[in-house]
Amino acid sequence: MITAQTKLCGLIGDPVAHSLSPAMHNAAFAALGLDYVYLAFRVARAELPHALNGFRAFGGRGLNVTIPHKVEVIALLDGLDALAGQIGAVNTIVAEGGRLTGYNTDAPGFLAALSGAGYDPQGKRVVLLGAGGAARAVAFALAGLAGAMTILNRASSLKRAEELAASLRLAGQAAEVQELSEAHLRAALAQADLLVNATSVGMSPQAEETPVPAVLLRPPLTVFDLVYTPLRTRLLREAEAAGCPTIGGLAMLVAQGAASFGLWTGVKPDMSIMRAAALTALGKTSSSAPKTSVALIGFMGSGKTAVGRALALRLHKELVETDQLLRAESGKSIPCLFRAEGEPAFRQREAKLIQRVAGEPNQVIACGGGVVLDPANILVLKRQAVVVYLRATPEVVLRRVGESRHRPLLNTPDRAETVTKLMAARAPLYEAAADITVDTGRQGVKAMAELIISQLEKYEGFRF
Ligand code: NAP
Repeated sequence: MITAQTKLCGLIGDPVAHSLSPAMHNAAFAALGLDYVYLAFRVARAELPHALNGFRAFGGRGLNVTIPHKVEVIALLDGLDALAGQIGAVNTIVAEGGRLTGYNTDAPGFLAALSGAGYDPQGKRVVLLGAGGAARAVAFALAGLAGAMTILNRASSLKRAEELAASLRLAGQAAEVQELSEAHLRAALAQADLLVNATSVGMSPQAEETPVPAVLLRPPLTVFDLVYTPLRTRLLREAEAAGCPTIGGLAMLVAQGAASFGLWTGVKPDMSIMRAAALTALGKTSSSAPKTSVALIGFMGSGKTAVGRALALRLHKELVETDQLLRAESGKSIPCLFRAEGEPAFRQREAKLIQRVAGEPNQVIACGGGVVLDPANILVLKRQAVVVYLRATPEVVLRRVGESRHRPLLNTPDRAETVTKLMAARAPLYEAAADITVDTGRQGVKAMAELIISQLEKYEGFRF
């Protein structure tokens, strides 16, 4: 709840309407019970000084800065972190007693994404495409680590790349500059370990473009594309097809957001919650076709199967129960599958099933309770389905699951404690994934189905 004490964070840029940052940060604040709110402010170039003064006057806590203000904002700040100064761009501002200090979290975000993928850049030969703000952050993140660096940029703005290389040399990193052409790419990639695309080529709506011809992508080259709309760019798809390890831009987006969050709050956020919220927001913005399916999510015992059956009957749609399908296809009960394969293998099985069933129209999909643990499941479901969270209290869940021995995660000495802990951990994931949330426990199954239908009627983009 927003109160008179709520601290204000936000994003300034132009445009900002499609930013994923409000979804990511507000989900992470909620998960930690922090009294903060994050808003997006569209600020035209001419308004930037006024916007910063207003933020100072309001006593706001922190800002993210995006295009076109990342460079111009520096002159308006009271202090600048050394790395942001080297990069020459600020994407995060922290306000302390009215003093605004600028930081750049794209650089640590890039390194965190590399390390999350298990990639050590020490001594590696890097080919970097682009010389804009993101490329500068990547270049300085790698300064002193990379064995060699080649920067390729369009001929029309080769000067930008040369300026970047000159400031890298001052930081102790040698870098070669070349024009972005097929011949130069071929020569550079033949010697490279890591390719980083920091241009906007391949970004929606030009998603069928790629900065590198597929024939030049060969293992053991690792390909990192900073673009995250779409999640799997053409460059990443072609690199995967060629057998190259790949890293997508979403990992960096979440990591840079987590670093900003840490600067404002002093607390490390749960990155899986930020990632799930970003994916949910992406799902909402990336599909314009009407959805005809409903996916029910929620903790075990929240009534997904019973409500799903009633809803499917009422909407004349097909009921799909993922746990039931897993049982039928494997010939084993869910506890048996857990015991025989372990939870990670079970989750992989579940993810494959979701991939298969989620594309079909006109379904009510009752999902297993753990479906939200893999954010990719939610993204896949959202292509065709509105996601409805059946929210229950631990008391309701305990009453419903009773002494059932078919719940492998609850086979512990203290069921009540296990349920409470598991629900507290998963609730933010359900909240972040949900398009619609309904509380269960007080109403019967038919009334719940009617409640969901009344919410679906208000949901733009759902076709009955
Ligand atoms: P920017 O400062 O505007 O730079 C854009 C870069 O792309 C420039 O080097 C530009 O070349 C190059 N470029 C644009 N169109 C091109 C084309 N048709 N052919 C070749 N090069 C082209 O933007 P930015 O902030 O660096 O962002 C670049 C990309 O990174 C965007 O897609 C952005 O979404 C992404 N990004 C991702 C994250 C993340 O967390 N994953 C963070 C920051 C940015 P010129 O110098 O010749 O104009």
